[in-house]
Amino acid sequence: MRMPMPMVLRQQAQASADAVLQNSMPLLVISAIAAILMFCVGVYGIYAYVEVVWASLHYGDLPCDEPLSSYWLLTLAVASVATALKAFNVLRLCLDPQTADGVISSFINFLSTLVQVTCLQWLFASKTCSETNPVLFYAVTRLVYWQLFYLFVMAFLLGIIALALRRLVMAGVLGGSEGAGCAEKVKDMKHVPLTDNELMDPDDNKPRECVICMSDLSTKVGKEVVKTNCEHYYHESCLTSWCAKHTSCPICRESLEETGGGSSV
Ligand SMILES: [Zn+2]
Ligand SMILES: [Zn+2]
Repeated sequence: MRMPMPMVLRQQAQASADAVLQNSMPLLVISAIAAILMFCVGVYGIYAYVEVVWASLHYGDLPCDEPLSSYWLLTLAVASVATALKAFNVLRLCLDPQTADGVISSFINFLSTLVQVTCLQWLFASKTCSETNPVLFYAVTRLVYWQLFYLFVMAFLLGIIALALRRLVMAGVLGGSEGAGCAEKVKDMKHVPLTDNELMDPDDNKPRECVICMSDLSTKVGKEVVKTNCEHYYHESCLTSWCAKHTSCPICRESLEETGGGSSV
């Protein structure tokens, strides 16, 4: 059962999310730039491919000492084979799905790398094509270099974006099961009997309050009270609900995931 969260706690949770967001700002800005770059790199790739198709169709009959005008067909063939293999992955019949997909992906990567390396070799071996058929030669050169660039840059940019997404999940901005460990720890915390004097506030000798549900700890009969390592008290069910979205103590922000068995007696 989920407890309604009092306003003050909601504000605290928001403040801590804001703090994490603020710390992650440089990374978020970098990853936004990375995403824009990825988009531009992708758009340029489409442009480069269209340019090669156009050059092959329009200038394909001009002499070229290497079969550059067939490169777009080879690329298209590899893409078609890749799509077909993914759609009709017969390996799934005899292997477990993950291994089958892995084998297919590796094969497709091998095939496309082979085609790219072959074309790169054509470009290096070509002696006259840059003069006899410059439009085709430079269009294919741009496409092949883009493909190689793409492999390395994408891996790098995706890494940055993955890091930023992780930060957002930690800040509670995006979903995630960050609180799973926290909820697990609540069970191991020290349980305090409802009649224990510990539950009385020494300042005014009134029962302490569970700040999550805003009711007295000792008056809710039948509800278990737990004590965190940071010496704060909550109803067990309240803290478990809190852990669904947070990993730190609602009062002092100390990590609840590291709370062992409620060390103090
Ligand atoms: Zn409570
Ligand atoms: Zn605390």
